[in-house]
Amino acid sequence: MIKINKIERKRAFLGIILFSFIVSGIFGVVPAQAATISSAYFSVDGELIKTNYYMQNGRVMVPDLFFKHTGATVDKNEKYNSIAVERNNIVALYLDKAYMDYFVKEKNKWIREYLATTTTVINGRPYIPLIETALKLGMTVSYDSKINRTFIQTNAPKESKPIAIKKGETTEKKIALTFDDGPDKIITPQLLDILKEKGVHATFFVVGEQVSYYPQLAKRMVEEGHSIANHSWNHPELSKLYTAQVIQQLTSTNELIEKVTGVKPTLLRPPYGDFTAADALVFEKLGFKNILWSVDTIDWDGNSAENILTIVNRDKSPGGIVLQHNFQNTKLQGTVDALPKMIDQLRAEGYKFVTIDSLLAK
Ligand SMILES: [Zn+2]
Repeated sequence: MIKINKIERKRAFLGIILFSFIVSGIFGVVPAQAATISSAYFSVDGELIKTNYYMQNGRVMVPDLFFKHTGATVDKNEKYNSIAVERNNIVALYLDKAYMDYFVKEKNKWIREYLATTTTVINGRPYIPLIETALKLGMTVSYDSKINRTFIQTNAPKESKPIAIKKGETTEKKIALTFDDGPDKIITPQLLDILKEKGVHATFFVVGEQVSYYPQLAKRMVEEGHSIANHSWNHPELSKLYTAQVIQQLTSTNELIEKVTGVKPTLLRPPYGDFTAADALVFEKLGFKNILWSVDTIDWDGNSAENILTIVNRDKSPGGIVLQHNFQNTKLQGTVDALPKMIDQLRAEGYKFVTIDSLLAK
């Protein structure tokens, strides 16, 4: 009963704020309550994560997706109009409401807790109270006023942190050529022709949507001995998606690749190399190895063949993974021109070309 009274008082208070907001709006005064979004680095298990935040009712409010950096999955539940944050425990925060529900395993039931602040949508992004949510997920939050920084300890066991692979662990002169974002009808056939002529097998991180346009080229990659791998459905920044959307991006792409080529990819490269701790756990759960790179040719930006060769020569190493692209873009002529020379030069130095699968095989 006390709690309900509290909420009613709060409603009355919010009503007054809303009223003064409208009045100040009429008189053209900027209301003092308007949220000012700032951005800062928050420490999550010692790693600095830049995030937007603001203060509301004396509470630190962060975008719901910030919690993906703690390894928690974050999803929107349309039916309940709530945000579900899950890591060992589940917290549900309701939009525009000053309470949350959390699950208590020992009692096997949901408990409602009233909050001093309201989950609020700003510019389409739900902001949730940082400390209240973190504590319910078994995390520790502290603030160092000297350096003006918030520290979050997720208290997750260390072995639960998945790894991202930047290169193969070998001292042998093996190197893997990789091409992202295809297949396309201009660049991909040229690259496949060169690779065939030179007898080199590469790894293609394909985009599902592109495979739907050019299934024959995806088939050709596999038929000619290349590895085919997952690069999402339509190349979003995975850190900016809810967990269910991340899963959809990866599974829909894998399903199409398997349907078209008969091969089920086990390698994944997140677009832009962008992912959170929660995304990495999802990759692992879906059976993917998270593949990054050790040599970035920056070919997508229109680098000339000469520049690409200079970069590869500078950054190559045994076990190296070379990042290049094959989407429809006039800027990629350098990639096509550099490829035969790159193969000849590296071969002359004793390098063998391998797919990522074979590079990582023990
Ligand atoms: Zn890409």
